[in-house]
Amino acid sequence: MGQQKTPLANDIAQVLITEEQIVTRVMELGEQISQDYEGKALVLVGILKGAAIFLSDLVRQITIPVDYDFVAISSYGADTRTSGVVRLLKDLDSSIESKHVLVVEDIVDTGWTLRLSYIVENFRSRKAASVRVCTLLDKPSERKVDVGIDYYGFIVEDRYVVGYGLDYDGRYRSLPFIGVLKPEVYGGG
Ligand code: 5GP
Repeated sequence: MGQQKTPLANDIAQVLITEEQIVTRVMELGEQISQDYEGKALVLVGILKGAAIFLSDLVRQITIPVDYDFVAISSYGADTRTSGVVRLLKDLDSSIESKHVLVVEDIVDTGWTLRLSYIVENFRSRKAASVRVCTLLDKPSERKVDVGIDYYGFIVEDRYVVGYGLDYDGRYRSLPFIGVLKPEVYGGG
């Protein structure tokens, strides 16, 4: 158990959240969600790609009937702050009308990309019975826009983290823990 023995792991300066901690916390979240949505038609909607790994573990810890789906969204980085432009690159496969939707996100940082508020508003307009948010990581110190988070896995300080779905330049998503990269990894482009 513990750290994955791959060359990718050699680029990690420090493990912030171990695989064991993630397993335990995801189990707790699954229990809580199962209680909260008892008797309700629940669908988890993961935001690709970062939330895919978290969603796949979380859904297996939910003991009530549950469906899941994914959306992919693109935002325009800094421009989004002023323009609010967010594009839906991949929509839901099925209707969420009258369903209780739990949006699953990897990390909420500044809130500036408006990913969550866009998705939450979009789903509400489709007459979902409820729309709530579950994020694996919450970085509240960086928050610039208030986004309502109903469930979170861990609070992290203001450092760029990778692993368990989170990437740097398309890499490190497959690591089973959350960590920070060695400074030289960024230097190498
Ligand atoms: P924000 O909340 O700032 O609008 O943006 C959240 C998005 O920025 C996340 O979904 C993720 O794609 C990216 N992001 C923010 N902080 C980090 C981080 O520490 N590591 C990684 N890999 N992505 C991050």
